[in-house]
Amino acid sequence: MTFNLEIDLAAREKAGLYRSRKTLETPQGPKVIVDGKPYLAFCSNDYLGLANHPEVSRSMSAATQDYGTGGGASHLVVGHSRAHHQLEEELAEFTGRERALLFSNGYMANLGVISALLGKEDAVFQDRLNHASLLDAGLLSGARFQRYLHNDVESLEKRLVKTEARRKLIVTDGVFSMDGDLAPVPELVETAKKHNAWLMVDDAHGFGCLGKNGGGVAEHFGLSQQQLPVLVGTLGKAFGTAGAFVAGSEALIETLIQFARTYIYTTSMPPAVAEATRTSLRLLQHENWRREKLAVLIQQFRQGCKQLGLQLVNSHSPIQPVIVGSAEAAVAMSEQLARDGILVTPIRPPTVPKGTSRLRITLSASHEEHQVQQLLEALDKSAYWSRKQPFQEEVS
Ligand SMILES: *Cc1c(COP(=O)(O)O)cnc(C)c1O
Repeated sequence: MTFNLEIDLAAREKAGLYRSRKTLETPQGPKVIVDGKPYLAFCSNDYLGLANHPEVSRSMSAATQDYGTGGGASHLVVGHSRAHHQLEEELAEFTGRERALLFSNGYMANLGVISALLGKEDAVFQDRLNHASLLDAGLLSGARFQRYLHNDVESLEKRLVKTEARRKLIVTDGVFSMDGDLAPVPELVETAKKHNAWLMVDDAHGFGCLGKNGGGVAEHFGLSQQQLPVLVGTLGKAFGTAGAFVAGSEALIETLIQFARTYIYTTSMPPAVAEATRTSLRLLQHENWRREKLAVLIQQFRQGCKQLGLQLVNSHSPIQPVIVGSAEAAVAMSEQLARDGILVTPIRPPTVPKGTSRLRITLSASHEEHQVQQLLEALDKSAYWSRKQPFQEEVS
């Protein structure tokens, strides 16, 4: 017997779902070179333009003088450097939580947290559009796994009333990664309280963008540690560096240090990355103009789409998807945009549900208004395709 990998690969290709990588030859920013060609890009998660900020870069290179390059060991052995520790303290203060704990990335933070908190006698309740890392974490934990309808508190309650689990954990994206809409977090807080459950929010796309100081959904809705006990942020998006953190109570963080396997059994992030993040945290908090500029660009984009008759989703975040329908149409639109020098990657199943393939357009404070205008003009041209065949369902 062989594995017959070629058959599965061919099937994926036939379904229009084959993925391939492009090679980026520049730092992230509005203007990039990809596979040797220049583009105006609207698909990174560098929402505040910090991924190539000179001060952040300088902090990173200076820190390699102090700490070298590699973390060298796990946090519990001898890999927990002063840089990591200071960043954790600053993140705790930033989020208004007792403590914060660094992870190597968001995927591992989610796996670590959910499986440290839950076991077989517990239950996890997840929004059906949650990020893949949360869904995978729920499965890995061994807890009873239930999905509720997107942003539907009633659907969640129906499941909560029936459970007899020891611990109940409600888990949601803060800002949904592929749709850009906001979770009804205050309602979820109430629901959690009513059913004696805990709430966990993965705010990968809210930190930096939402809240007066970039504190994400927790700051936006003014939610305390008691109301929102498990708060996850990632550092590879608006922070412009790499890694992730969990913020919460002393007992939560100690539990993670003792039991989160993706924390314990891995090398710490390079200390220089932690130093760079301390600088980006400072910029993210204090440079309000980045959030203000982003808001102007989001408004400009949405108004432009309305004028063009392009269907928008309910998102006021920098994630502004244009839902195309079939995977083929999304790919065709993306290719048309590329011919006009605009880079937007199509997002297809299984990342999003069937029939909702989309262009996931993301805006950044580093974009300029004339660049958004250029995007709108190119979209108008390429949208011909989707207007002709609106919302084609994929039937498999
Ligand atoms: C990107 C993302 C992650 C993963 O974070 P990484 O640091 O890139 O591994 C987790 N959750 C959500 C909602 C995300 O968008």
